[in-house]
Amino acid sequence: MSSWERRNSKVDDMAQGYANELIATNDTIATNPKFFSEPCAIYIDNKKVSCLALESVDEAVVLPELMEYWAAKDRLAPEHFRLVDWPIVHRAMKSLRPAEQRFMTKHTVGMCGVGKFRKQWGLDSENRCPLCGLEEDHLHVPRCPSDPAKTQWQLLLQELQEWFQSTTTATPIAQFLRALLRTIRTPHNQPQTETP
Ligand SMILES: [Zn+2]
Repeated sequence: MSSWERRNSKVDDMAQGYANELIATNDTIATNPKFFSEPCAIYIDNKKVSCLALESVDEAVVLPELMEYWAAKDRLAPEHFRLVDWPIVHRAMKSLRPAEQRFMTKHTVGMCGVGKFRKQWGLDSENRCPLCGLEEDHLHVPRCPSDPAKTQWQLLLQELQEWFQSTTTATPIAQFLRALLRTIRTPHNQPQTETP
């Protein structure tokens, strides 16, 4: 045998020996250690990644800290995190233009042109609702107790109902969404109820 053939045979024997070790321990999926020639290796969920998938790396690095931040801000508890269908959220967000994505993200956390932020931005001296005089944050807008706000809320619900009918939205979906909207206006209502 030539030198290269002997080395090839030696490596084959080593590989076979390692395979036998794995079979003996009933662990035929070998761990994938960092090779001596690798300057570094990345593991996600204890699995070594074979290519630099930036989204996965981003998620592994940023997500734990982000979840802690959401929990601290009382926005999304860790136990509720798994209830969100993230691939659908991802698909919906990717269907928007970048400016719309920013707009949606800000509105999701209540950052919009309401009294609270207008005062922070130096646009107003007070953070009061112009209709009722109470402090105005994003949740106050649908909950404002003033008569014009009540009228507008009813009008919008009526328009939504007409839209449901025009698009032949399935009745259970329309019912659920109406009940859900009521929990925004009157937060003590349960989403399952259809009480006025
Ligand atoms: Zn108000």
